Amino acid sequence: MAAGKLTGAATRALRRGGGTALPGLVALRIDPGVVAALGRQLGGGRVLVTGTNGKTTTSRLLAGMLGAAGRPYLHNREGSNLVRGFASLLVQRADLRGRVPGGAEMVGVFETDEATFPAAVRGLDPDVMVVTNLFRDQLDRYGEVDAVAGLWREGLAAARRGAVLVLNADDPSVAALAEGWPGRVHWFGVDDPAVGRGAAGAADARWCTCGGEYVYERRYFAHVGWWRCAGCGRGRPATDTTARAVQLQLGGARWVVDGLGEVEMGLTGLYNVANALAAVGAARVLGLGEAAVREGLRGASAAFGRQEVVMLEGRELWLLLAKNPAGANQVLLLLEQAGGPGMAVAGLLNDRFADGQDVSWIWDVEYELLAGRVARCWAGGDRAEDLALRLDYAGWPRPLAVARDPAAVLEAVLAGTAPGERVFVIPTYTAMLELRAELARRGAVRSALE
Ligand SMILES: [Zn+2]
Repeated sequence: MAAGKLTGAATRALRRGGGTALPGLVALRIDPGVVAALGRQLGGGRVLVTGTNGKTTTSRLLAGMLGAAGRPYLHNREGSNLVRGFASLLVQRADLRGRVPGGAEMVGVFETDEATFPAAVRGLDPDVMVVTNLFRDQLDRYGEVDAVAGLWREGLAAARRGAVLVLNADDPSVAALAEGWPGRVHWFGVDDPAVGRGAAGAADARWCTCGGEYVYERRYFAHVGWWRCAGCGRGRPATDTTARAVQLQLGGARWVVDGLGEVEMGLTGLYNVANALAAVGAARVLGLGEAAVREGLRGASAAFGRQEVVMLEGRELWLLLAKNPAGANQVLLLLEQAGGPGMAVAGLLNDRFADGQDVSWIWDVEYELLAGRVARCWAGGDRAEDLALRLDYAGWPRPLAVARDPAAVLEAVLAGTAPGERVFVIPTYTAMLELRAELARRGAVRSALE
């Protein structure tokens, strides 16, 4: 405990980051059982949230609902979703004797990296496990989606039978996790034919475990929708938490949840409605009241770079993180629905480890959706030229600038727009970090980091 706490204090004093990993690493080196010893003191419920996309947003929404309900909770920050991050969080909250003050009533919300899920289950013995979706991440990160599904099954095999799964009924790969699960499942999903479409984006699940092909009554995006296996007849389960009458605007979404009536949220896009449903499902399993659920949704602010609006010299920059093909397609769908005509769009593509070093995934992104709607565009990031080529094939206009340096991209955006104009910026993960740092240097970032 002392070593972890000292490390945390030292890293903060030396300004070597917020101390999200190193204190945990040190504590784990001394006592590999530190996460279990501290985490299991959280008696209000231990919740793991995993999935390819949406786990940060879902955990934040759930934390907001817990706050509105007045329930004490712990929540790991984005970027600390590995076991060392859990250890850092817990060590900093515990006292020197290894006790978490107020732990008996406290809820733990742990955003969990997909590959960390089995270790997180073994360490934390969760009461609730939320899975948002399973998409292909960048090609070279975790390998095929089947490998990730295998890791999740391994985690579930280690979980307590009394735990509750909160699963996305619209994603057949997530729904398959319930097969063989002996405990309770709380299903969430969207029931709104108006937001369905024929085909949208690269499907990462085409075949059932039986070998049969999935057929769709309606598809929301990629392989997510109202599905059925043509082989074994397995189909989308009936949902416990259901969204209907979804209305998406640029600055927010409204929809009806069975049992709650109409709810509203400051985030938008069908993908965020699905994330919100995951949080509502978990909140219901934890026994939170209606008022807290509504307030948690209404008070939602965008997580770091996801639908964040930043003013720069009078321009309204919308930062729309797209860290993989599914995420990018969802952003493009949102802009198709709500972005209006004559959009100005800047894409930023990096190829570092966290982005995926193989950028060929951009050829699975349907930039074509916005052909004819984009009036001006910019291509930036380490792989600006690759992105410019992709946008050219998609029928976008010739970029006003192709520049790797985020500062140069911002200069070009300023040169190509007038004050009062809106620009949509679609960065990959590390490009978002760099852009945000550059915006901060220019005094432009409006919402403070948590
Ligand atoms: Zn089947």
